[in-house]
Amino acid sequence: MRLTFLGTGTSVGVPQLGCGCEVCTSADPRDRRLRASVLVDAEDGSRLLIDCGPDFRTQMLRQEFRPLCGVLLTHEHYDHVGGLDDLRPFCIYGPVHIYADSDCCAHIREHMAYCLGEHRYPGSPRIELHSLPLYSADDFELRLGPFRVQPVTVEHGRLPILGYRIGSLAYLSDVKTIRPEEERKLRGVNTLIVNALRLIPHASHQTVGQAIALARRVGAQRTYLTHLSHQAGLAALLDEELPENVRAAYDGLTVEV
Ligand SMILES: [Zn+2]
Ligand SMILES: [Zn+2]
Repeated sequence: MRLTFLGTGTSVGVPQLGCGCEVCTSADPRDRRLRASVLVDAEDGSRLLIDCGPDFRTQMLRQEFRPLCGVLLTHEHYDHVGGLDDLRPFCIYGPVHIYADSDCCAHIREHMAYCLGEHRYPGSPRIELHSLPLYSADDFELRLGPFRVQPVTVEHGRLPILGYRIGSLAYLSDVKTIRPEEERKLRGVNTLIVNALRLIPHASHQTVGQAIALARRVGAQRTYLTHLSHQAGLAALLDEELPENVRAAYDGLTVEV
């Protein structure tokens, strides 16, 4: 599999509008972070998208245009679903299948009612919603083309949201806490992508230190930090302070898994 980081920034992106800090004014392209999202490509060309934030169209202009065999959503916050309408061009291949927990599906039904149901507005994206259980059984698995996807439930503050394990890869965004029985699903993962907002604590996001501790507990061989804010510091400095097998992801980074 090949993983491509479409975006690695927190909800407001980096630079943050109006901010003059050293990160927001940095000339290093790694310090320009669009909203968090990844593409996962299989050997046979099958492709999954995880999250579809407001920067999706800009992000996809830099990628080869190919069908998506599914869109996995972590939760309904704007920085993760704000680009769903821009899936429209992908509907030339047929309806786009979106997988999310039931609250996230309900949010989409409410906010994108014009794309769904009998009275769908002509020309709107054709989407099909599939609800996934939270805190699913250990053997619950979704098969999408060549991908075997296992949902992993984490807590974003008090909101339960989904992360995904796809074979030897796991993607967790917006984690603050994780229950032991869900953390078990991550054991032995080769490549872990996990959120780390900044160095100091936050009510609904892990810090860099908490992300490193989670990576150690599950025994990830290598870890990429994402959903970073300008308060995580310059990419160049952050990388220097991280353990050798933990890196700060950046937009456009591709990793073979
Ligand atoms: Zn977020
Ligand atoms: Zn800033």
